[in-house]
Amino acid sequence: MANMDSTPSLIDPFNRPISYLRVSVTDRCDFRCVYCMSENMNFLPKRELLTLEELDRVCTMFISLGVRKLRITGGEPLVRRGIMGFLNSASRHIGNGLDELTLTTNGSQLARHADSLKAAGVRRINVSLDTLDPDKFAEITRWGRLPQVLEGIEAALKVGLRIKINTVALKGFNEDELFTLVDWAGGKGMDITFIEVMPMGDIGNESRLSQFWSLRELRSRLDSRYALDDLDVSTGGPARYAQVSGSSQRIGFITPLSHNFCENCNRVRLTCTGMLYMCLGQEGNADLKSPLRNHQGNDAPLIKAIRDAVERKPKGHDFDYSRQRISGQVSRHMSHTGG
Ligand code: SAM
Ligand code: SF4
Repeated sequence: MANMDSTPSLIDPFNRPISYLRVSVTDRCDFRCVYCMSENMNFLPKRELLTLEELDRVCTMFISLGVRKLRITGGEPLVRRGIMGFLNSASRHIGNGLDELTLTTNGSQLARHADSLKAAGVRRINVSLDTLDPDKFAEITRWGRLPQVLEGIEAALKVGLRIKINTVALKGFNEDELFTLVDWAGGKGMDITFIEVMPMGDIGNESRLSQFWSLRELRSRLDSRYALDDLDVSTGGPARYAQVSGSSQRIGFITPLSHNFCENCNRVRLTCTGMLYMCLGQEGNADLKSPLRNHQGNDAPLIKAIRDAVERKPKGHDFDYSRQRISGQVSRHMSHTGG
């Protein structure tokens, strides 16, 4: 797709091209993962959410400005009503400016949507899964059921979707399943990425510090069992990858705490209410809802708002747990900005 305002694509003040937009299509979810939400969440009134048409318009605008990858997330994206229609519509951009349309999901609704996702041009998805033990799964997600997610994963694999498993590394919770998770994913041809828990949003009585399991330590445990070759691939994202020797399985490490990954950041994040966050770990944002709603027949104000926002993209986040103190915390939940 041609760049509609015929000026250069989006480049931030640190010379990083912005080619990746993550879109949270809802703050709601059918799970209540303990590190993500408190049990009693107050969700936004529906009228505050961007409509699917507004989401489509803003995504189209980003693609016209050089975004090549869209990831749909949430909350749980597959619980938003009409989401498949949105994805079908967004798929018109694939090969026409957009390289990839993808999704991060908890897997609960995958069994019924796998076919339609494939038909909408989605080729790869991320499924979040922290344990393979049904009781622990119920404990960590509060409301989730493991068999339903495993069924969803099988359905997605069956239609040929490639899956990457996302696992939050949680001290004292899934340490003992490290090898089980890697072997299970590898056996199904899935990559797996481990994520350090980030201080985002109030999660009730749970303590971030007691949840935190450093990926430095996790990696050295993996090294004791697998021969891992570090890969030099950059997705412009936070993950670093290693390949299990003798297999095609890749293991990713998202280490916001033990290693800052911001230098190559290529992404911005849109919330379901139309706020653009230029960094997951900073409060700075830009309102795209007003130019969307107030100027329906004129894209110029929206383009200007997007460009102005990218010019304010900060260098990086300030998350830090050193000296047993949490700093750099942000008040919004991951489900609002979209993980
Ligand atoms: N509901 C979908 C899911 O769970 O995949 C998509 C949204 S969820 C917010 C996206 C990812 O963020 C999940 O992999 C989840 O484990 C991760 N996540 C949520 N809160 C987090 C936190 N405080 N620190 C690190 N990862 C977090
Ligand atoms: Fe829902 Fe995903 Fe947050 Fe779990 S991590 S509560 S599945 S949004």
